[in-house]
Amino acid sequence: MTPGPRPHVVIVGAGFGGINATKELMDGPFEITLIDRDNYHGFWPLLYQVATAGLGPEDIAHPVRGMFGERSNVHVRLGTVSDVDLDRQLVQVADEADLAYDYLILAAGSSTSDFGIPGVDDYAFPLKTLPDAVRLRNHVLSCFERADACPELVDSGLLTFVLAGGGPTGVELSGALTELIGQNLARDFPHLDVTKSSVVLVEMLDHLLGGFAPSSQAHALETLRAKGVDVRLNTAISALDADHVTFKDGSSVATMTTVWTAGIRANPLADMLDVAKGKGGAIEVTKELTLPGHPEVFVIGDLAATTDRHGKPLPQVAQVAIQGARHVGRTIKRRTTGRPTKPFRYHSHGMMATIGRRAAVAEIPGGLKLRGTLGWLSWLAVHLVFLVGFRNRIVVLVNWSWNYLTWDRAARVILKEDSTTPSGQHRA
Ligand SMILES: Cc1cc2nc3c(=O)[nH]c(=O)nc-3n(C[C@H](O)[C@H](O)[C@H](O)COP(=O)(O)OP(=O)(O)OC[C@H]3O[C@@H](n4cnc5c(N)ncnc54)[C@H](O)[C@@H]3O)c2cc1C
Repeated sequence: MTPGPRPHVVIVGAGFGGINATKELMDGPFEITLIDRDNYHGFWPLLYQVATAGLGPEDIAHPVRGMFGERSNVHVRLGTVSDVDLDRQLVQVADEADLAYDYLILAAGSSTSDFGIPGVDDYAFPLKTLPDAVRLRNHVLSCFERADACPELVDSGLLTFVLAGGGPTGVELSGALTELIGQNLARDFPHLDVTKSSVVLVEMLDHLLGGFAPSSQAHALETLRAKGVDVRLNTAISALDADHVTFKDGSSVATMTTVWTAGIRANPLADMLDVAKGKGGAIEVTKELTLPGHPEVFVIGDLAATTDRHGKPLPQVAQVAIQGARHVGRTIKRRTTGRPTKPFRYHSHGMMATIGRRAAVAEIPGGLKLRGTLGWLSWLAVHLVFLVGFRNRIVVLVNWSWNYLTWDRAARVILKEDSTTPSGQHRA
């Protein structure tokens, strides 16, 4: 049911796309329902820091109601959208009444793709959500506790951590994990020979950080190897098991931890819709980011197969979601006032990835490349600016400063109520 006489805009997902679309529209003559399966907005670029005990889960999450609570035309709903009836303009919410819309913005993000590799679903640790990060942190810390009690298990791969995928998340996670082990766990476990532990970063291509300039890729490789990460390029995983990972050339590594950062596919909500899909199941959209044949339905962010003006696919990154959200907000406002609309144009703000303490690569539009301390400081500044919530920014800044001065990663906490095995924990 539409809440009032003004056009009702339903926005699915309170991620980078959903919250920016809401902000763009909330001063206009609209009733907005923003629905998410969680009651918080998650800042995924810092998820790896939760997994490696640098930050707590609350530091990178912000309650959605806290962002829009004072806006009478914004209705925040906690619920999981299960389907959309495009003909009747209804959003179906699991265990709840349907929501009628005049405009619909789908911004439900993405999920992990296993590329059909046997064992990934059962044994790999994904890193897409806050529970994923906490589960991985629990597991890593628990491995060290078990190794301390039974050091002979180290030879069975208990302290070997395999990270699949040499993109930004794999690079950032491998650097941070190496620092957690070398700086913190080495001190926490003085009776354990932590030099027997290893972090193995596996990438099927011949370079890390696909999409970055070759010089940045080479710098990341060199820096990670200097930190002690066992980087294996041109290496493809063919199967996972509970206690080992097998590669395409038939070799294997004993491990009880494989973190899967290799694949991404559209949120399963895309599969529910009988519409054209592109790579990774992402929904194909028009130049205005609408569903073909449904000008009232917009798809943005990771869920959409968005292209640039030359038809080249845009990456699934926060800026594409943010700029897409602002564009569809402006398009809806133009439509309701009878003004002509414009096609979506993406403006790249550059790319960056941190490799560890005082180590990062940053590529700024115009060709400027920053490395080392300068790259790292620019990475810190950008992430602080984009992190949602003043409190979160202060807490993260204090945590980073503390960590920098003392080498202490304070969140080395095992939360027992959370399972330490990945099995059955996957979520869209
Ligand atoms: C570990 C990690 C690190 C990353 N690092 C970077 C980085 O450094 N820089 C960068 O630019 N990008 C990074 N990204 C990518 C970036 O986070 C995404 O491109 C961006 O979040 C996409 O925005 P979105 O709004 O499409 O989806 P999201 O921000 O993921 O938001 C989707 C929202 O939809 C909700 N949702 C999902 N399904 C349903 C449903 N059925 N019903 C209701 N709600 C639902 C989710 O709970 C979520 O809140 C990273 C991603 C990950 C996972």
